[in-house]
Amino acid sequence: MKIKILALALAFLFLCTPVQSQEKIEQSEDFLLRAIEFHGHLGPYLVLGLKAGLFANQIFGRKPMKTEASIQTKTTPPQSCFADGVQFSTGCTLGKGNISLTEGEGLLATFKKNNQKLILKLKKEIIEEINSLPDQEEAWENLAEDLYQRGIEEIFKVSKSESGF
Ligand SMILES: [Zn+2]
Repeated sequence: MKIKILALALAFLFLCTPVQSQEKIEQSEDFLLRAIEFHGHLGPYLVLGLKAGLFANQIFGRKPMKTEASIQTKTTPPQSCFADGVQFSTGCTLGKGNISLTEGEGLLATFKKNNQKLILKLKKEIIEEINSLPDQEEAWENLAEDLYQRGIEEIFKVSKSESGF
């Protein structure tokens, strides 16, 4: 009898658990809200980091212990906010030492796992779009929301390589 009740309870729990693909969970409003909570505010560079990291997850799987991320951009906000988006989405973290941020022009993100490499270069148009924003929080948030909905190829120039480097 007890076993029957337990089995029923387990079946009920199973039915009540929403079955969502990892991808759906990741590119959702809830995911964005949790990222904002982690980072502290909503901005375009945070969202660009999330998009880049989610795309790397699609290619490599989300492997926080095996993936390495290196980012080249300005090492101060707002550009450096990109690094938090990558940390949050990929699980590559400062503490584990598998993310690095170095000073550079524009924005370049390189992801490596085993002998696979993925390079995302932020398109000039996007940098110009961000740079043309007025100094108002609302405008920055609106563009961030908008970027979150765009396709990866609209934002980044994507290149992949399989062999060594
Ligand atoms: Zn920020």
